[in-house]
Amino acid sequence: MTIRCDEIPDRASDWIDAEGRRRDRLALALHLAICSDCRGYVRGLKQTRRLVAAALRRPVDPALHQRLGLSPAEDEEPRP
Ligand SMILES: [Zn+2]
Repeated sequence: MTIRCDEIPDRASDWIDAEGRRRDRLALALHLAICSDCRGYVRGLKQTRRLVAAALRRPVDPALHQRLGLSPAEDEEPRP
């Protein structure tokens, strides 16, 4: 079973998340071992996901909350 380069974008997220069938993961690992273009693609996708996750963890500016009509106090209230 082989994987072509044009299949990598559809499979890269499963690869990064360590999901998918073992057979598919093995085929993808073999492809990445021989294809530097796809290794670069997967590396770039990992970096992008890390940056997005870091950006989402940053606190939202209260002024932006106000402009969007959201009250930060509601989000920060402790739940019973
Ligand atoms: Zn490739």
